[in-house]
Amino acid sequence: MALVQPIGLSEPDAPIPPGGTPPSGDAGRVTPMMEQYIEIKAANPDCLLFYRMGDFYEMFFADAETASRALGIMLTKRGKHLGVDIPMCGVPVERADEYLHRLIALGHRVAVCEQLEDPAEARKRGPKSVVRRDVVRLVTPGTLTEDTLLDAKRNNYLLAVARARSSSSGDDNRFALAWIDISTGEFHITECDRASLSAEIARLEPSEIIVSDALFADADLVPYWRTLPAVTPLTRDVFDGATAERRLTSFFAVATSEAFGTISRLELTAAAACVTYVERTQIGRRPPLSPPLRESAGATMAIDQATRGNLELVRTLAGERRGSLLEAIDHTVTSAGSRLLAQRLSAPLTDPNAITRRLDAVAAFVEDIASRAETRSRLQAAPDLARALARLAVGRGGPRDLAAIRDGVQAAAELARALVALKESPAEIADALQSCRRPDARLAAELSQALADELPAFKRDGGFVREGYDAALDETRSLRDASRRVVAALQTRYAEETGVRGLKIRHNNVLGYFVEVTAQHGDKLMAAPFNATFIHRQTLAGQVRFTSTELGELEAKIASAAERSLGLELEIFERLSAAVIAESVALKQCAEALACLDVASALSALAAEHGYARPHVDDSLAFVIEGGRHPVVEQALARDGTPFVANDSDLSPPADAKSGILAGRIWLITGPNMAGKSTFLRQNALIAILAQTGSFVPAKAAHIGVVDRLFSRVGAADDLARGRSTFMVEMVETAAILNQASARSLVILDEIGRGTATFDGLSIAWATVEHLHDVNRCRALFATHFHELTALAARLDRLHNATVRVKEWRGDVVFLHEVVPGSADHSYGIQVAKLAGLPASVIERAKLVLAKLEQEDRAKPKGFEDLPLFAAPYKPSQEMQDDAYELMVAAVAALNPDDMSPREAMEALYLLKKKLAETEKK
Ligand code: ADP
Ligand code: MG
Repeated sequence: MALVQPIGLSEPDAPIPPGGTPPSGDAGRVTPMMEQYIEIKAANPDCLLFYRMGDFYEMFFADAETASRALGIMLTKRGKHLGVDIPMCGVPVERADEYLHRLIALGHRVAVCEQLEDPAEARKRGPKSVVRRDVVRLVTPGTLTEDTLLDAKRNNYLLAVARARSSSSGDDNRFALAWIDISTGEFHITECDRASLSAEIARLEPSEIIVSDALFADADLVPYWRTLPAVTPLTRDVFDGATAERRLTSFFAVATSEAFGTISRLELTAAAACVTYVERTQIGRRPPLSPPLRESAGATMAIDQATRGNLELVRTLAGERRGSLLEAIDHTVTSAGSRLLAQRLSAPLTDPNAITRRLDAVAAFVEDIASRAETRSRLQAAPDLARALARLAVGRGGPRDLAAIRDGVQAAAELARALVALKESPAEIADALQSCRRPDARLAAELSQALADELPAFKRDGGFVREGYDAALDETRSLRDASRRVVAALQTRYAEETGVRGLKIRHNNVLGYFVEVTAQHGDKLMAAPFNATFIHRQTLAGQVRFTSTELGELEAKIASAAERSLGLELEIFERLSAAVIAESVALKQCAEALACLDVASALSALAAEHGYARPHVDDSLAFVIEGGRHPVVEQALARDGTPFVANDSDLSPPADAKSGILAGRIWLITGPNMAGKSTFLRQNALIAILAQTGSFVPAKAAHIGVVDRLFSRVGAADDLARGRSTFMVEMVETAAILNQASARSLVILDEIGRGTATFDGLSIAWATVEHLHDVNRCRALFATHFHELTALAARLDRLHNATVRVKEWRGDVVFLHEVVPGSADHSYGIQVAKLAGLPASVIERAKLVLAKLEQEDRAKPKGFEDLPLFAAPYKPSQEMQDDAYELMVAAVAALNPDDMSPREAMEALYLLKKKLAETEKK
């Protein structure tokens, strides 16, 4: 839609600032307003400048061209600069949020420049003076506070990334991350290495990342930065380690950074960059940031970006929340609860005690149905305390934010009273209830007394203070109302005096108050004697409008009373706002507590609704799931009335494992297409995530030893359908797993090796399974259509073959979705193709070809059994060269002939011979 400056506000070809500079005839001269504009723009070169002129934000020059294209608004001209037309476009102030939203989403940054004085003030300084203006705020994706610009259910993080200086530590692989959400006040810091940097960023999904110029231009990182939505390079002073402590401590007004606990120098640098950026963008306004909270490395399950993507944790591969795990489990009733749940799901814990603490809270609400219902219904009345508080703190709050504080505090207090009955409150709930009681009850009482029942969206609209709250306000209001009554009396009097019964006194924004009569009576009022009283203003088709001295005086009185009462209301607003900000620490804790109670009660509602069980989580390497289900597929099938077939899994180290070796099992799952292999794989990963998030899980029972890293990969063919992946990507990702997975990790590989020729693919899959078994020793699920791989179970003692059952019935295939020990004997590819509706002639022909191929295949020797063992024990190559002799000795020492089958002994012997031969060659 097109927006142009309303006609009449300005000359079309010469900028007349509200200060009143006459248009300059001299094409070479710069008007004072343009001078001001250019100066402000020069100070904010990387932002679009919203330059306030009356009721509009105007953009000029290149900004205008960019914005008009981005917003689809009309580009006009406004005067000339150095003899050339000035391109201009504008957006109305009251709709600015909407346009800001679109510009920010497109990756722009906006500097909002306001008029800092009344144009009348400027005029007093002389005809050439310009209204004082300055930038009051930079709007960037990571520093938003308005509800209209934010997603209520998601955090909006600004992330600062700092890297250790290679000269000082010799380690330029260390990074510190500091992230804040200024719309809620959350502030966290942590350190990580280069390998986990992208996983951390994938977890946080920051809206904006700030880095130093140097890091931004780092050759190694440039390709990565390009994949992220908004990376802002900043001058090096923002990331200066020497001044970091001072900047951070002065922001929080504390003496030393020890107040925040132990923080590394690098973390301090990242944290300081955050607060400096906040100061630069908020310009004097202080969001209620909490002191930085340190997250220790390894406290959360590492899940890289590809894994998050293909497990569809918070959004589907198509980018939607619908269909994701988060959407399936989110039963929260508040936005803050929804945000906390998303946070927790993105960062499952690794400490069994912390997980138990969360599970205890969920369990309490599972058992006590009445408390759960009570909690959820009271929470529904609790607005978004954290965001309302943040807006008030940065001076962008309105009357409804004050009301949100009032309602939130009241709901929290009532909840705390109602839940005293909750039997044996577990620690998490007890702590939350304590925090619910923290905010001063007098604050809510004061707000209740002060605020009217119906509240306007903006404080500038007035009318939000309740009658009877403030005597002075009541008095000016009654003056205003009394004058309005005088207007009514005047109408009656004028009607009587003129004998025009239809005479009305009306009001509009252009004329103010006026007398209106129908056209037929117009002449009468314009003639003597009435022309002494009535002054003609306007003649319309059907009406004639007049004013009078008396009406003018009354109007002035009404206007000044209205202005005075708005002034008083704004004073009251500031006072209440200050009282709220003074309570911000308690209010924030209260907000967090409400979110926490929401998550615990919501997860219990989920567990009750879908029959989830409490998982047992400990430090072992166990992984036993009984009757596990896929949380999302199960709900999708239920909508069609189809039952989900539950399946068991067991990846725990075998009970008879050789002592000292910590290693989980690998399940190799074969079975035809559409049998349910992928579903089974993912459900096990999702159950681990849910358990470590502190949720009950879709299973009859689950015992999970904490998973430190989770990897999930899908073979290229599956992904190609979605137009995402290539074989190369598949291999790069597989490499990452084989290089990183430890015995504590859980690895899910779905049809790896499928994206290339059969023999290539099979060989890669083969070697991958061996590596996982012998080197990574992680718990793993490996789905494959290469039946040949099942032969590996004969040699790899922790490899278990499983298959998904199907039934053949009159030449068709029936999927039972039941995972059972063993391996698939057929691919059933042709049957599936038939189900899919391939023409009968093609199916018949395919059957013939298959029969022929199988015949030839049988004629050839199999030969896989003859492959030598994987080159275990595995060591990085340099070390191998370092001391091959010692390795040989160690290899012999590690052999335990009593535990070996004759065949294993033979193989070990061959291996030793081979190694010896290699050593002698050097
Ligand atoms: P595969 O990976 O073996 O080709 P999928 O896991 O993609 O098979 O499953 C194919 C379809 O079968 C799924 O979309 C789902 O509708 C159904 N399905 C899978 N597992 C189950 C199950 N356990 N119970 C019921 N239906 C299932
Ligand atoms: Mg599959």
